[in-house]
Amino acid sequence: MNTLTPRQLLDKLVSFPTVSRVSNLDLVDWLEGYLASHGIAAHRSWNEDRTKAALFAHVGPWVEGAVVLSGHSDVVPVDGQDWTSDPWTVTERDGRLYGRGTCDMKGFDALAVWALVEAHSKGVKRPLQLALSYDEEVGCTGAPPMIAAMQGVVPKGEAVVVGEPSRMALITGHKGGTGFHVHVKGFEVHSSLLSYGVSAIMEGARLIQWVNDQNAAIQAPQPSAVAAMFDPPFTTMHVGMIEGGTAHNITAGDCRFAIEMRVVPDDDEAARIAAVETEAARLDASLKAKRPEAGVHLEKFFGVPALRPEVDGAAEALVRRLTGNNATGVVSYGTEAGQFQEAGYSAVVCGPGDIAQAHQVDEFIEVSEFQAGHAFMQRLVEHLG
Ligand SMILES: [Zn+2]
Repeated sequence: MNTLTPRQLLDKLVSFPTVSRVSNLDLVDWLEGYLASHGIAAHRSWNEDRTKAALFAHVGPWVEGAVVLSGHSDVVPVDGQDWTSDPWTVTERDGRLYGRGTCDMKGFDALAVWALVEAHSKGVKRPLQLALSYDEEVGCTGAPPMIAAMQGVVPKGEAVVVGEPSRMALITGHKGGTGFHVHVKGFEVHSSLLSYGVSAIMEGARLIQWVNDQNAAIQAPQPSAVAAMFDPPFTTMHVGMIEGGTAHNITAGDCRFAIEMRVVPDDDEAARIAAVETEAARLDASLKAKRPEAGVHLEKFFGVPALRPEVDGAAEALVRRLTGNNATGVVSYGTEAGQFQEAGYSAVVCGPGDIAQAHQVDEFIEVSEFQAGHAFMQRLVEHLG
């Protein structure tokens, strides 16, 4: 197969409508074939029902210490968005490349694939790896099994660059996140008989008020040095949606809401999670004491570890060297970098494009950003040489 340019690779990757809810196997099949045509063996990490796969590959000497370029293959939906041009065809207008995923993050994916093939064909002394996950957009659930699958199949990499859009700025930290679906089960009676029933709404409100109290307690002390890098400089807990009840004069049989927390890197996320579980269990017990049918059910629906700024981190040193940029920053969105770090890698975020364009109607990456990403990859391959 011909060697494709970064732009041709971007066109190809965007043409696969890999929305998180559908299979990404067309893209994976194509990419595996493309890499194979250049003599690069790729490995798959399947999801449970084998409808999706992550793909990872290693080029260069078969030794530890690779630079790992990490991207995700899935994109957010375009449903209900009124696009100016076909979201699955990269369209250049006014110095911008429009298309779903151009920014988040098939632009980086295309550049990473380009770098892998370039490093393989030129020959490098230090290895390079590509790690392309699935289901990032639905809570970063695809990366942990992929990272586990990489162990022992390819030599352990050292420095991970997660190419989420940062305008090529070096990002060394982000908050972690955890989300819970809460279902409060009440007991329906006529509201005039309130004390014989359980209002799921009124009981659920106790848990929501507890969340408010937590926020107040969290924000009271001076933020730590790491927390002070963030805006806002503390862990936050939030209830973003709620539903429940059937009529003004019936005690609500059900109330459902979601609690999500964004945790600064040096806060104890496990303790925060345990506190939610303890509080829910306490409410559950008190409801059951009134009515055995009532209770609280908690379901964790996502959990992403924070990215801790590292001391003398290998990934940070690498990106500083390649970008000449000494500034570091933190972001408030979660990425797979925290998951790589948790698995023992040094990890940072650095990628082309602006997060403000991610998930938008008429998503785009500026041509200049894409070129800056390409220049980064060229310097990387030279550096590995
Ligand atoms: Zn992304």
